[in-house]
Amino acid sequence: MSFSRDADGFGDPDDLRHRPIPLRALGLSVAALAVPVLVSLFSLEAADYETLLWLLALVPALLLSYYRGWRGSAIAVAVGMLVLVALQLSLLLLGREIQHWELLGGVVVADVLIAFGIGAVTEKLHRQRARAEELSLTDELTGIPNRRYARAFLEREFAAARRGRSVAVVLFDLDRFKTFNDTHGHTEGDEVLRAFAALLDETTRRMSLSARFGGEEFITILSSCDVEGALSFANRVLDGLRALQLGEGRVTVSAGIAVYDAGMESPYALIAAADRALYEAKAGGRDRICIFDGVHSLTGS
Ligand code: GH3
Ligand code: MG
Ligand code: MG
Repeated sequence: MSFSRDADGFGDPDDLRHRPIPLRALGLSVAALAVPVLVSLFSLEAADYETLLWLLALVPALLLSYYRGWRGSAIAVAVGMLVLVALQLSLLLLGREIQHWELLGGVVVADVLIAFGIGAVTEKLHRQRARAEELSLTDELTGIPNRRYARAFLEREFAAARRGRSVAVVLFDLDRFKTFNDTHGHTEGDEVLRAFAALLDETTRRMSLSARFGGEEFITILSSCDVEGALSFANRVLDGLRALQLGEGRVTVSAGIAVYDAGMESPYALIAAADRALYEAKAGGRDRICIFDGVHSLTGS
């Protein structure tokens, strides 16, 4: 599965490209390059230590690789070398004595090699961090987002709902799943959970999110969605499950729908409302959808 549906780069391994570079890091990079330039321009005779100051070109490589990985390091070292060449040409034009070429060559080679080394290592670390982040947001059994991801997504959607965007929550709970496990075994139960998760995932649009909420419960957070949209989504899921004929058609699911209301104080109120509707769906005989209407739940299908 892909987490790329999350427009904020949340859990996105490519978020490296979007991470802002703080002005402090850019300032430090410029300062590190300015030191050898100014020393070369203002010192009267070229000394060895001046050439060695070009090792400071590694500072931008180190800082930018932290924010941009391999690419940051490569850009930093390229800029550093351009500055170095420009300075040497300026010194030549000014008729000044040129720094020791062999030593300068050695420093340039060391700068490039070390910068590429830094770039390679930080890139690897960035990828590992992104992978660890993705795993921490994924349900191990089904591969879809987990409860932690759903909670963070819902908090963001709830904040957007407060600013006027609609949001709906659908809670799904497989019916009499304990009995299914007891009859067919836990392994087959796991297969059902995987198949239902896959169905949910493919029914969910990119801007919304479906997650395993726990056990045999799943949640869908429908962004910019009203009650009709949520009902039509839930119906598609129930129909899809019927079409899958899991456990010879005996596996069914109940759903509870709640839509954001200005009176709801937190995302948990929205979940509690959907849970209330889900309870009604169970009490009403299961394999059905109920909608929370503010006071009590209505049967949706
Ligand atoms: P209801 O229709 O009221 O929801 O009945 P239910 O049996 O589905 O509900 P209950 O809460 O009594 O049981 C939930 C079952 O879900 C019990 C548990 O064995 C099963 N379950 C939870 N997590 C997993 C899992 O990861 N794999 C499998 N195979 N079963 C699980
Ligand atoms: Mg349950
Ligand atoms: Mg259940």
